[in-house]
Amino acid sequence: SAAARQELLLSRIRDVHDYPQQGVVFKDITPLLADPAAFAELTDALAELCARHGATKIVGLEARGFILGAPVAVRAGLGFIPVRKAGKLPGATLSQAYELEYGTAEIEIHAEDLAPDDRVMVVDDVLATGGTAGAAMELIRRGGAQVAGVAVLMELGFLGGRARLEPTLRGAPLEAL
Ligand code: AMP
Repeated sequence: SAAARQELLLSRIRDVHDYPQQGVVFKDITPLLADPAAFAELTDALAELCARHGATKIVGLEARGFILGAPVAVRAGLGFIPVRKAGKLPGATLSQAYELEYGTAEIEIHAEDLAPDDRVMVVDDVLATGGTAGAAMELIRRGGAQVAGVAVLMELGFLGGRARLEPTLRGAPLEAL
């Protein structure tokens, strides 16, 4: 059941207090990755969401979005596109800057991997402020494709990411397991 799945996944996420800085509770998914039953359950759940929302490709966000997104892409029979931090992709890229709490960050995509009829699901482990997922959606649209939605393991609701992403989602679903 969905409740049993949630309980299993939640039991494999470790809260690390004051990491990487004072006051932050870091959601560590390495215990989940180390448990093959939990990792398979997570992969299946995310692959189901991709099918439900008619995704044709998956964008994974560096770095934990790669670990989750790649097996989901294979499971769902979809192509995988990495969105990387600036300066890591060798080909022609589109770049998108976005605001962090202190300063800005920049992410990139190989636009040639996107086709106009693609519906792309953005996959990551944690949605916090929503800045990264929002920038990824901009990249997908600037690359000429459509956004199928955003699918994450966890949403940190108290940070207000869902509300901040609402205009960028343009009605696409934001799914948090
Ligand atoms: P944001 O752009 O603020 O939504 O941050 C999302 C990115 O930062 C994701 O790629 C997450 O992996 C990571 N992240 C942010 N906050 C946390 C947290 N408390 N625990 C684990 N990862 C986090």
